[in-house]
Amino acid sequence: MQPPAERASLAAPWRRAAQGANLLAADGGLGVTIFEEMTTLAVQTGAINLGQGFPDEDGPQSMKDAARDAIAAGANQYAPGKGFPVLREAVAAHQERFYGLAVDPESEVIITTGATEALAASLLAFVQPGDEVVTFEPFYDAYGAIISLAGATHVTAPLSAPDFLPELASLEAAFSSRTRAILLNNPHNPAGSVFPRELLQGIVDLAVKHDALIISDEVYEHLTFGVPHIPVATLPGAADRTITISSAGKTFSFTGWKIGWLSGPKDLVAAVRTVKQFLSYSSGTPFQGAVAAGLALPDEFFADAASTLQRKRDILSAGLRAAGFDVFTPQGTYFVNVDTAPLGITDSVDLARRLPGLVGVAAIPVPVFCHPEGAERVRSLLRFAFCKKVDLLEEAAARLATLGSKL
Ligand code: PMP
Ligand code: GLN
Repeated sequence: MQPPAERASLAAPWRRAAQGANLLAADGGLGVTIFEEMTTLAVQTGAINLGQGFPDEDGPQSMKDAARDAIAAGANQYAPGKGFPVLREAVAAHQERFYGLAVDPESEVIITTGATEALAASLLAFVQPGDEVVTFEPFYDAYGAIISLAGATHVTAPLSAPDFLPELASLEAAFSSRTRAILLNNPHNPAGSVFPRELLQGIVDLAVKHDALIISDEVYEHLTFGVPHIPVATLPGAADRTITISSAGKTFSFTGWKIGWLSGPKDLVAAVRTVKQFLSYSSGTPFQGAVAAGLALPDEFFADAASTLQRKRDILSAGLRAAGFDVFTPQGTYFVNVDTAPLGITDSVDLARRLPGLVGVAAIPVPVFCHPEGAERVRSLLRFAFCKKVDLLEEAAARLATLGSKL
């Protein structure tokens, strides 16, 4: 039997997904995601892994106890397709508590296998071959892959250092009569920017003008540093065209549980649910109640999560500055970007591959979050994750301080 690479046409979905996420190797073979590549390299070299964004400490013990108790009590079979009522109700209560958004847990919320499935089901539900989907660039790698799987065209508008906030004029230029959706990510991975209200309103106005859907990935909603997170769905004109996506992974430091959710107008949510049934059907039975309990934690829990992370941002940023990088202070997320150019580096992809061997630290090069044409603008940028224990961040900073002498 021939290997799939030889049998499948260029348009095969797996190849389109690989192309969308920049996973095609130079020889036409398939690579793995940059996160997997860098985590594997970190493990092989024993490097401190500041690449893939996952915390090195678990979230609340009460949530772990709830999941363990659920397994012991026999919550081990399929969850309902749209998720258990307790979690849908908790998502609705969370949207009301933090943002004043009234969401019907019965018809306007579904629970998904992480934010990733929510993104995939939303795009596959609404986007056809020939449609265009707008994102900012750099963009989270799954966006390119899923847009390609849907057979759509991915159009981007640039985000640039130092603040990585878009200009509305360049966003407007990305819209056309074929734009079906804008896929927004706020707070933004990898850039770390948090969009202010006027900018979000400008985006909504463009979506209204072009009759485009807004699919808003807000997985870092609680991880902002001194600036508020504003869900785009709260802005005038947005509610009836917006699907809002989030996940327990980042807020509660349980990235491996893969419990996500989405909310939006009933008719849109029903269409997404139709697709979602045929992706995973449902998942995470013993975790759903635990996440519902997490969403009901007092306000202090959410405030502490952000302030703890802000302190870690500051520790790593100071170390990166001392190592000679230009540091772009993020307003949210797990990530800080630096420019490596002051150290004489022009290619951060090459540096990222050598960094674990050189100083024992792994990071992610920002050009992998871009199409080849857009990669040039961020050629020397590198992304570091600071969702790690303080002593590990300090050790990483000490190691990076030696980089200049090893290049
Ligand atoms: N969106 C963004 C912006 C992310 O950074 C991630 C990675 N956590 C995801 C979606 C995927 O989230 P999940 O693990 O819940 O599928
Ligand atoms: N969201 C994580 C990051 O940006 C990675 C998740 C993954 O490995 N797919 O680092």
